[in-house]
Amino acid sequence: MAEITVTFEDGASERLPSGTSAGDALRVHAERAGSGKKALRRAVAARVDGPDGGRVLDLSRPLGADCRVAPVEPESADGLEVLRHSCAHLMAQAVQRLFPGTEITIGPVIEHGFYYDFKRPEGFTPDDLARIEATMTAIARENLPVSREERSKDDAIRLFRELGEHYKVEIIEGIPAESVSLYRQGEFVDLCRGPHVPSTGHLQAFKLMSVAGAYWRGDSRNEMLQRIYGTAWASQKDLDAYLKRLEEAKQRDHRKLGQQLDLFSLHPIAPGSPFFHPKGAVVYNTLIQFVRGLYARYGYTEVVTPLVFKTDLWKTSGHYDAFRDDMFLWEKDGEEYGIKPMNCPGHCYLYRELGKHSYRDLPLRFADFSRLHRFEPSGTLTGLTRVRSMSQDDAHIYCTPDQLQEELRRFIAMTREVYDAFGFDDVAITLQTRPEKFLGRIELWEQAEAALERAAREAGYAVTVLSGEGAFYGPKIGFDFKDVLERTWTLATVQIDCAMPERFGLTYVTPEGTEATPVMIHRAVLGTLERFIAILVEHTAGKLPLWLAPVQVQVVPVSEKVDAWARRVTEVCRAAGLRAEVDLRNEKLGYKIREAQMQKIPVIAVVGEREAADGTVAPRIGGENRPAEALDAFVAAVRADARMPGGAP
Ligand SMILES: [Zn+2]
Ligand SMILES: [Zn+2]
Repeated sequence: MAEITVTFEDGASERLPSGTSAGDALRVHAERAGSGKKALRRAVAARVDGPDGGRVLDLSRPLGADCRVAPVEPESADGLEVLRHSCAHLMAQAVQRLFPGTEITIGPVIEHGFYYDFKRPEGFTPDDLARIEATMTAIARENLPVSREERSKDDAIRLFRELGEHYKVEIIEGIPAESVSLYRQGEFVDLCRGPHVPSTGHLQAFKLMSVAGAYWRGDSRNEMLQRIYGTAWASQKDLDAYLKRLEEAKQRDHRKLGQQLDLFSLHPIAPGSPFFHPKGAVVYNTLIQFVRGLYARYGYTEVVTPLVFKTDLWKTSGHYDAFRDDMFLWEKDGEEYGIKPMNCPGHCYLYRELGKHSYRDLPLRFADFSRLHRFEPSGTLTGLTRVRSMSQDDAHIYCTPDQLQEELRRFIAMTREVYDAFGFDDVAITLQTRPEKFLGRIELWEQAEAALERAAREAGYAVTVLSGEGAFYGPKIGFDFKDVLERTWTLATVQIDCAMPERFGLTYVTPEGTEATPVMIHRAVLGTLERFIAILVEHTAGKLPLWLAPVQVQVVPVSEKVDAWARRVTEVCRAAGLRAEVDLRNEKLGYKIREAQMQKIPVIAVVGEREAADGTVAPRIGGENRPAEALDAFVAAVRADARMPGGAP
């Protein structure tokens, strides 16, 4: 019989008969090496690197050529994918045991879990979900082997037609290949490419989360199905940790905290357009002030540009074709107008309006905090994270090709300074390169991509390249920040524009006296302010840093006898530039302190009769009582701690 060479993770290799399964190969090796048995017992699949490239396969799949084989452990990214998809099958099997006649459709893996769409006349109740979960646990205990079989398309269609699975028949009819693979566990069979766990006993940590309506093939003209969502993990410990994180995320939800802290609200009168309340406006404006401080040092000039333009502007920039559906447009006096969704085209106009530019004037860095409007579909609007009305710490840099690398370096330095100010330390970079549909010349794209990658690597960040994911006008790097709940958010972005300067006919005079096209950079550090505030509120659970807190000092008199001194303390704080409030309500001290803490006010200044007599205050910071201090010393200390980072005046 033909033999193949199988190489293992430790570098050792075995000669084995061709057709040996990946699992058997790992078993033979584990026995000879006397190690790796535990990993093999836990393995949910095998990673096979062979002539067809690297793939994750069932442990039962036969090996037909020389290859490398490694066990896939359940907690690895590949392992979780196998577990989650196997849980989708497990759930479908449980549903069909409990509710015969229910048709199955599709059941993919999603972030943290899986779902399956079912066709059943009655809805699933929360009670049903609990029963389905219990049946899943029972089937997992049965430890049914999961097997794969290849069938011709006709065979598979006959099989599913007999089972009354019309959706499966429809799916198979649409598959171009001659044959399809099926997976069986006990009485349940599903059309699937796999891979799957070797037996249902590997599925031990899962939970069904919710049920929702979903249209067949996502099309509202099709029939409504019922989608059950579940989550699955490698261990009960991981599942518990995830559920705890979800609960924590609920507590930290910026929509909940935004209301509790009186920061903002949303009203159907202006969908997706937040009303910032006085306290929210303090946060919003203080963030802008912080960025302005950095602009002064990093050589940006602020500009103010129109909100409403004739649509010719976006016809020139290319946005009219690519972005029109996301814009608010209307007609007036036979002309079409729109409200700007981004600042860049206006800045290109401004560059031209400023007259002839010499290389000596560059770089020009135009910053603009203007409000922007985008017609996001109503179904996607969420709190402050997905809005129709927004502002960004947006700027556009026009420079010569020679200056590009230095501009990118400076931008990354500024971004790092901002992240340090907020204590964001878990940051990585993604580079998004040329998509299929793009504007501008390929050489420009290649130069720009190389410059971005170099800048990111020189700054010492880990860089992931997302091929083909750039915007139509240029490649981009994004700074991905991981928050305390381990969710990833892209905050800062920097993008080199390979199209707009040429489309607007922008030029500068080179040292040789010829005309050349400047390089244009789009960049933002905080990104959309609304979204940044949401992320910051959730990351900090509403405990904003002292310099950003809407109320920095809450003065709390012990009784009305000392109201006058409490008022005086408040005035002195305010005169020193601190945001101070006084709680003169006739309530118990403990209650007033608790409320100030609920409002996440960083400094509480308690004043009683002794403090009034001595001209002092008793600070309470971070839930801790401090010894009483003279008012002046207290104010000076809080002022020093509240100083805005980044050198703003
Ligand atoms: Zn499957
Ligand atoms: Zn831009």
